[in-house]
Amino acid sequence: MSKQKKNKSSANNTTADTIITNAHIATMDDSKPFVSAVAIKDGIFIAIGSNEEIMAYKSDMDTDIIDANGRTIIPGLNDSHIHIIRGGLNYNMELRWDGVPSLAESIKRVREQAKRTPQPQWIRVVGGWSEFQFNDERRMPTINEIEQAADDTPAFILHLYHCSILNKAAIRAAGYNKDTPNPPDAEIERDSSGNYNNLTGLITAKPAATILYQTLAKGPKLSYDDQINSTRHFMYELNRFGVTSAIDAGGGFQNFPDDYKVIADLAKQGLLTVRIAYNLFTQRPKKELEDFTNWIKMVKPGDGDDFYRMNGAGEMLVFSAADYENTLEPRPDLAETMESELKEVVKLLVQNRWPFRIHATYDESITRFLNVFEEVNKEIPFIGLRWFLDHAETISEYNIERVHALGGGIAIQDRLAFQGEHFIERYGKEVAERSPPIRKIIEMGVPLGAGTDATRVSTYNPWVSLYWLVTGKTVGGTILRSDKNRVNRMGALRLYTIGSAWFSNEENKKGSIEVGKLADLVVLSDDYFSVPEEQIKHIESILTIVGGKVVYTDATSEFKDLAPSSLPSITPKWSPVATYGGYTNSSEVPKTYPSIPGSSSSSVKSHNSTTNLKTNTTTETQSEKIPTQYPSSNKFDQAAADIARVSNKSNKIWSSCCDEYFTF
Ligand SMILES: [Zn+2]
Repeated sequence: MSKQKKNKSSANNTTADTIITNAHIATMDDSKPFVSAVAIKDGIFIAIGSNEEIMAYKSDMDTDIIDANGRTIIPGLNDSHIHIIRGGLNYNMELRWDGVPSLAESIKRVREQAKRTPQPQWIRVVGGWSEFQFNDERRMPTINEIEQAADDTPAFILHLYHCSILNKAAIRAAGYNKDTPNPPDAEIERDSSGNYNNLTGLITAKPAATILYQTLAKGPKLSYDDQINSTRHFMYELNRFGVTSAIDAGGGFQNFPDDYKVIADLAKQGLLTVRIAYNLFTQRPKKELEDFTNWIKMVKPGDGDDFYRMNGAGEMLVFSAADYENTLEPRPDLAETMESELKEVVKLLVQNRWPFRIHATYDESITRFLNVFEEVNKEIPFIGLRWFLDHAETISEYNIERVHALGGGIAIQDRLAFQGEHFIERYGKEVAERSPPIRKIIEMGVPLGAGTDATRVSTYNPWVSLYWLVTGKTVGGTILRSDKNRVNRMGALRLYTIGSAWFSNEENKKGSIEVGKLADLVVLSDDYFSVPEEQIKHIESILTIVGGKVVYTDATSEFKDLAPSSLPSITPKWSPVATYGGYTNSSEVPKTYPSIPGSSSSSVKSHNSTTNLKTNTTTETQSEKIPTQYPSSNKFDQAAADIARVSNKSNKIWSSCCDEYFTF
């Protein structure tokens, strides 16, 4: 690797700021799927091509040259559903079990952290793990184990969307006792045998997780300065895994505008290293219309810039539409008032041309949401307005077609990589096989984005999600989806880049390495296209570039000299992240150095055969497929729906469907 930089004096239009050569670059551009080099100027790709072609953009005076040593480069990853803003405010306070390979190690960290944590702070393990990832004992910790490990330090352990374990100190700190009433749709477990104040420490969502988050919110918050520090470290952690863009889904207890001050201040100072498009999430049951009416006066979609921009409403539009995601409990039926409440809000949003997203786990809820959307569309046509469903694990083919007709998209996440075993137990293997119906969504030409829903159920590590997309397996190794409903590596990467970009209306700006697009890219530790499938979840970035600037380098790699000026050290000092970091990548896989493309034709060939790129699939196959899958007596108003879809010109990226996603 060489780096040459001299003073900027003779820049002209064809001179690059940075050139990256000798790489195996997956562009996501069908006309040039792989190239060896790129040139970047002013944060934008100005050329892509062969080493020789790109070296023409070099100026002796002005150009940094990065030799990629034959490594694989991909466009920056884009998580289309993550609670990054809330996650950032809390990151430094949380003890993460993400990726920790054993229960013994997880409990040991609680014990160590208890000694480190000053009063009145808590130990918080807030999602990102599943008992099936533990290779010693595939189970949750017991209340007693947490009690003994944490002793007098309040400890709160959140398990999926399902329950939390509190030790006695946490019960006390939360102000709960035997007289605390059970909240609706949840249980604060009581112990008749005289345990602490008659509460056992187990709180279970049945199925509403509100009480779990309310309890968590009773712990102290970080100071403003620590929240700034925490958010920066969380972005850096995401950069470590190659995430350069995120679409924030709001979240409970994430109030606008108060809880957005930290991220907005960082954006103002130019300190974001992940591009964030954010959606606004109502916090007030029965006052949702009032919230959105107020917000429409304050901000509008598109406000901001390429680093921090407003993206519309959701994922909560009205509380009566919340169907949760708790696969350990039966699916809830939504209240009868849902339709009228949702209609008012959606009407307001469409009237004001606010894109929206809505949390929707189950097909039964989705049917009712679509009834509302179709009604609104008849009164005020959506006409190209961006809207989408989040999650949609059990959506039916019929409802996918209704989404398509209304010009909507679907953002999926690897929640079942964490809850899959419980899902199979409740709904059976056959339902798990088609959940979510990735293949159907792609075949029907509906925009599909990938992501995690981190940080409270899944981990934020995108490689766990890519692994789940490609293998169909949970983090515990259980096979959920067969080949019929998996995507190949290139397909998964497309969903995680150009696919997700549609969801913030930015597919013309990012998601692929093409001339004119934002220069966001990732040099990978290992060759994603050829490592054994099991290793996909252990891949990391070794060099992440956002807008032409280096935001992350692996300190052990050949790029360490390019490291950005280091972040301030983690605060507060007792932060578990300072000791354990974020995701525990337990891979012992050596970082590979693939041969330089071109120097060995067999290496290039093997990439192509792995991913089986096809660029000339005809659209006839597609147009034959869709209508034949549905009865002619479609219940929805196809004519009205077609108007909604017609002016949505966004589907260029979906039109070349579909074989290239499914050839292994
Ligand atoms: Zn959700």
